[in-house]
Amino acid sequence: MKRRKLLMIPGPIEFEPEVMQAMSIPTTSHVAPDFITSFKNALEMMKKVWLAPSGQPFIIAGTGTLAMDMAGANLIEPGDNALVISTGYFGERYFELLKRYGANVDILSAEVGNIVPMEQIDEQLSKKNYKLLTFTHVDTSTAVLNDAKSIGQLGQKHNVLTILDGVCSVAGEEIRQEEWGIDVVLTASQKAIGVPPGLALLVASGKAMDTWRNRKTPVRNYYADWENWLPIMEAYSNEKPSYFGTPAVNLVQALEVSLRLILEEGMENRFLRHQKTGIAFRAAMDALNIDILPVNNKIAANTLTGAYYPKEINGNELLAAIGKAGVITAGGLLNDLKTTYFRIGHMGAVNRSDLLATISAIEYGLESTGYKIEKGSGLKAAQEILNKQ
Ligand code: PMP
Repeated sequence: MKRRKLLMIPGPIEFEPEVMQAMSIPTTSHVAPDFITSFKNALEMMKKVWLAPSGQPFIIAGTGTLAMDMAGANLIEPGDNALVISTGYFGERYFELLKRYGANVDILSAEVGNIVPMEQIDEQLSKKNYKLLTFTHVDTSTAVLNDAKSIGQLGQKHNVLTILDGVCSVAGEEIRQEEWGIDVVLTASQKAIGVPPGLALLVASGKAMDTWRNRKTPVRNYYADWENWLPIMEAYSNEKPSYFGTPAVNLVQALEVSLRLILEEGMENRFLRHQKTGIAFRAAMDALNIDILPVNNKIAANTLTGAYYPKEINGNELLAAIGKAGVITAGGLLNDLKTTYFRIGHMGAVNRSDLLATISAIEYGLESTGYKIEKGSGLKAAQEILNKQ
């Protein structure tokens, strides 16, 4: 019997066996020719996954927060105006982060489960001369999906740099960085990119790189400074040895494998598969009378679902029962509402069997904590979607 539980949290996620195999290759030198080729390949493939053929990719050892930090540190100078469009926990994080670099930061916060209306963003951008705006594509605390294309357009209209926190969306939700005019799209390895935690990844537009080049003051974060990292990325792209900080060698090799698998699937197929997965999972929740956080399906993320516990049951008991049925899910993240909802990741390598096993475990958990359901109704609803061509 397999003793391992299925990891269905919003990151780290289940990884492909080939990615895990790449992790176990004996660690090589960061200047070994094979490794240089892997790094170069990973950089090239990032541009394809991000749909940003002329962007500048960065692969740095660190977490998603470092990727956020890197965009903030390199693009903000003291006194710059910045706007944070917040849909939850990670919007708040960006607000704090940008203040550290001396920005005057305004924040537009959505109601829980909603997005900030585009008209409100448009209006705010007309009020002041903003240098940049940040938004969370999928806020992992609410499972709300932002309209990245429209925000990209607003950024262009007002000549404001746009930073998309795609930690819970890149390689899952549709993002066309260059076509949508988004200046920085950042993520971390452990989510839909499909590599164990430890890599901060971002692609910056020419406009973002020029803004950094034209700075009048030094970047206030030594590790994150593009001055240190751009020559390293360029050296790897030109297959030359280089060093600033030791790269996470095994993770970069795993990244090369995962990006190859992502591109083999194809970005269009991948976006559609995530959409179908999200729709199927939400149909299952609906059939079980479980409410989700997003106020409507149009703004519901496809990479994860945030669902309220039914009032009559104890959330901790539910998660424990789901765990007993072999599936690990996550509790809530928003400070005020933490104990009222749970989150299920369904991105990256997740397949039909994983999804159905998860719904079945949730049904088991609900029944065993005393919530009345029609057994199999969640599974049936999901299968009806998944069985469609
Ligand atoms: N932004 C979002 C949307 C996230 O989901 C996360 C991680 N859950 C982060 C930023 C921060 O990433 P990390 O935990 O890798 O620092």
